[in-house]
Amino acid sequence: MIEFIKNMPKVELHMHVEGSMEAETLWQLAHKNNYDIEYKDVQELKQAYKFNNLGEFIDMYMLGTRIIKLEQDLYDVCMIYFKKCVEQNIRHTEVHCDIRTYVDYGYPADFVIDALHGAFTDAKKNYGITGGFMPCFIRHLGNDVAKQDLDLMLPFKDKILAIGLSAKEIGFPPSLFKDTFKRVGDAGIHIIAHAGEEAPAEYIWSAINDIKVERIDHGIKCLDDEKLVDYLAEMQLPITVCPYSNVSLQIFTDISQHVLPTMLQRGLNVSIHSDDPAHFNAYLSENIIGIAENTSVSKKQVIQMAHNAIDGSFASDARKSELTSELDEYVAKNG
Ligand SMILES: [Zn+2]
Repeated sequence: MIEFIKNMPKVELHMHVEGSMEAETLWQLAHKNNYDIEYKDVQELKQAYKFNNLGEFIDMYMLGTRIIKLEQDLYDVCMIYFKKCVEQNIRHTEVHCDIRTYVDYGYPADFVIDALHGAFTDAKKNYGITGGFMPCFIRHLGNDVAKQDLDLMLPFKDKILAIGLSAKEIGFPPSLFKDTFKRVGDAGIHIIAHAGEEAPAEYIWSAINDIKVERIDHGIKCLDDEKLVDYLAEMQLPITVCPYSNVSLQIFTDISQHVLPTMLQRGLNVSIHSDDPAHFNAYLSENIIGIAENTSVSKKQVIQMAHNAIDGSFASDARKSELTSELDEYVAKNG
């Protein structure tokens, strides 16, 4: 089963670029850019990747953003992730990277957009990996900042696959961003949102009704609301679940306690993703293996979720059918 998962062609739909920065990458970039890092060596930095709480995780995430000084740095971080994709046989990936953090540091919006666009162009050329870039509005900065972000991004809309909502969830429901997401939709950009990770099920309803999401990131709290579960199952709205992220941020005490098997039993359109793979010490394969080894999820369900990820992606119909054939062939040979 482990070998089967490792080699299976995969699609990733929920991964934050800075969350793929391993301690070694962060260390090297800090030195290259003369950033005065508080850790005495890479071993000490690696130790600091073992977070005790959400605050420590956010601090490390933000450190990663601060040591990125050039468009080339961000491009390089992306290319390191794409090499990992090759190792894990990730064939299509849709990744998050917010522009606001870098705009606040004084960089133009196209700093992030061009870095990501360039990296995706080269990932396709070099490795045949497809996908795209999905900036998120940082919800705890409020709707006025989201509006400014959208104004900055719209001139580059052809390089943007989707726009989402991320960061501190409680106190910032999607309804606050209704008018801004209306403009996102009108511009022909896909809409996604982190919802129901820590905040209650009503935030998922708000993502559906107020901002018209096409896909939900996390969504695990939906199980607290029977009507919502029925609705999500009927509509087959894709939900991107990130098991080790939930464990690291102490939503579950252990991966064996994860609610993913229940979500599958209830007929929800779930698939597995990594969120911040370097920070949570688990890339896509490790997340799928963790669930397969420690819960009741079967091989058949692992394959089903791989299909869900393809179908829930924003790839073209032609690309989806290529990815499906690749997966079907793999399962026929190795299933
Ligand atoms: Zn996320």
